[in-house]
Parts: sequence; structure tokens; C-alpha cells
Amino acid sequence: MIKVMEDLQQDRKVIFSLIQKKGPLTKRDIQNTTNLKLTTLNRIINDLLTKELIVEESVGESTGGRKPTLYNVNSSKFYSIGIDISRTYTQILLTNLKMQIIKEKRFSGEDWYSCENLTERIVEAVRSFLDGLNITSDYLLGVGIGVIGPLEREKGTETSSENIGGSSFNSKFIKESLESRFRLPVIIDNGANCAVLGEYFYGYGKGYENIAYFNCGIGIRTGVITAGIIIRAINDREDAFGHMVIDINGRECYCGNHGCVESYSSIYSILKEFKVKSIRENKNFIEKNLDSIDYKDVFRLANEGESISKEIVSNSAIVFGTALANYINLLNPQLVILSGPTIYNSDIFYKLSTEVAIKKINAANANIKFSKGGYFKEHTMAVGASALIVESYISPSAERRQ
Ligand SMILES: [Zn+2]
Repeated sequence: MIKVMEDLQQDRKVIFSLIQKKGPLTKRDIQNTTNLKLTTLNRIINDLLTKELIVEESVGESTGGRKPTLYNVNSSKFYSIGIDISRTYTQILLTNLKMQIIKEKRFSGEDWYSCENLTERIVEAVRSFLDGLNITSDYLLGVGIGVIGPLEREKGTETSSENIGGSSFNSKFIKESLESRFRLPVIIDNGANCAVLGEYFYGYGKGYENIAYFNCGIGIRTGVITAGIIIRAINDREDAFGHMVIDINGRECYCGNHGCVESYSSIYSILKEFKVKSIRENKNFIEKNLDSIDYKDVFRLANEGESISKEIVSNSAIVFGTALANYINLLNPQLVILSGPTIYNSDIFYKLSTEVAIKKINAANANIKFSKGGYFKEHTMAVGASALIVESYISPSAERRQ
């Protein structure tokens, strides 16, 4: 645990957080936001400079007279780790306090077979990051982890481990093992909440109050910030949107309900529909055994204009776009970030679903913006997990102190 950060007084935390997220800033910029007296601000800035949390960067634009000094966060002293554990891969990042990625390591989901093994892989990656850069763990703030929800965040346990690797996955075990190995804070949240937090503070969400993040893949994972606050579902579920009913007499969903968005728009549903239609129409669209066809094949065929797969992908996009419009009308995000394998592999899905959503939203949401992948693209969840750690030291509603 970093004592310098831990011991910061509240007024220092506020100024540090401002510089860290909006820097570089001049003293005038800071005063315009905080209304602090110059003598008070000087005292705080000198303290943050002495603690090496911020640096004098260069000189700012002059409006005549002496050019003012700019203050920015120190990007080469303190670091944090962000980890994204999903169904198909694990990504580990070392970021600095600007949330720039300094080191990264990614391995496939099949490369670990137990929590013990995954923990070892994480420890090994983090140690190699630190050794490679000659950083001691004294300058590491902690480890943030984004996992597939639902989970009991404060306890760090899954309410259902079926979502990720079956019963072998246990985030409480990983949290406790990493805490004892590194002697650092370890925070776990669902990946979609991490992603929306990262984009809100450091990515395309900067300057907005309400943003939403969707990860479309095996499931549909959603995180939303409204008026600057993450809206948390019960047990921190991130799949509630995916089980929004879009057709009361619709397809059976694995959750037991009928007509959920996921039963039309998840990768599983798209692939299943393709296989059903291939058998029904007795057609061989691809030089592959039906069992070995994966979702990328279906998206590729659709992109190439093959009619059955194009129809399936288009229908799944129309369902998703309609549900998205309902969601937008309810929560009024100003920015919606769409990410995940479905979005990256299918232009048809991205374009059609956003067109449908725009057509169906009410006039009050007319200025909504969409982003494909956000600022951090495939790193969003891990960067957001790293940001969770920084927030735990400086945010008044610090996760770690709950
Ligand atoms: Zn469902």
C-alpha cells in the first residue's frame, strides 16, 4: 500500500484527482474549477510536488506577460495493475497514473485450468512487468480486476460461477491470493463497470455526465454511469440488459424466460440460428463441418453478402438496436460505446443496430453519440480495472473503504 497516497488529506486528493484527470492545468485553471485561494492552492501544489505525485510539465499559453506553469500527474513514479478476466482470455496491464498502458500481457482462456494456475500466471506477469521496468512494489498502488458478473462485489464472490469457466472460477480466491502475495489492495468489480469507469474518466466519456458501455459477445455486458455515478444492478449484474424481454412470445432463453435480447443477439444465438438454418435448408455455406463453424465464420459470410447469414446477423442487430433504444429512452446516456467481438467482427451489426436505435429513440435523446470500441478499444475493461485502484485512494466514495 502506498503510504503517500493513503495519507493524503482530502483537499490534496481533490486537487490531485483534478490534475490527474484533466491535466495539464495551470493554477488559474484549477482556481476556476475549485475557487481556492491562491495561497491555499500553492500550499497544496507544493505538497503534491514534494510527494512526487504531480510534476511541473512545461509552460502554458500566455495571455500576455509571464507564461504560466502547467501541472500534470507524475507519469513515471506510481503505477497500478488492471486485469480483465473474461470467458475467453485474460488481459493484464500495468498503467501509470495517467492510465497510459506501460506493459501488457494477454493469454487465452484455455491457458489456465484452475484459479491457482490463473493466480500464478497473474503473479508471474506482474513480477515480470516490475522487474523489466525496475519498479519496486512500493510504487504499485494495487490490483484492479474486472470479471464477468454477477458477483457480490464486497465479498468478491460470484453469485453464479456458470458465467465464467464453470464452477472452477472463484474471484474471492483470486482476490485473497493476490492480496497476500503482493500485500496490496485488490479490488474486484464486474468488467462492464470497470470499462464504463475507464472511458468516463480517461477515454471518450470525458466531459459527459451520462455514458453507457455495451460489450456484445458470448453475452451482452452493460455498464452505465448516470450523473457521474455507476448505476449498479443487484449483485452487480452486468447482464440485466441482455435479459430485457423484447418479444413476449419469443425464443426460449437459458435464463428461463422467453424473448430476451440475448436469445437473439448473443454470439451463441447467432451461431445457433445459423446452424439451424443450414440444416433446415440443407445448405453447405462453408467448407467446414457444422460443429467446427464459429461465430467469425458467420460474420464473415454475412460481410461477403451470403444471404442467410446476412439475414441472421441483421435480425440480431435489429433486436439489439430496438432494446438499445428502450435503454437509451430510459437512462438518457449522451454517449453509447459499443464494443466486444460482435461489434469488431460485424460492421453490419454495428451499423444496423445503431441506425435502428436512432430511429426508435425519442426526441430528447436526439444528440446521442455512438462510439465503436471507445477510446481504449480492447483494453477498456483492464484500463478501467486499473482506474478502480486509483479511485480507491482518491475518491470520497472510495471502493476500498466501503
Ligand atoms: Zn434471458
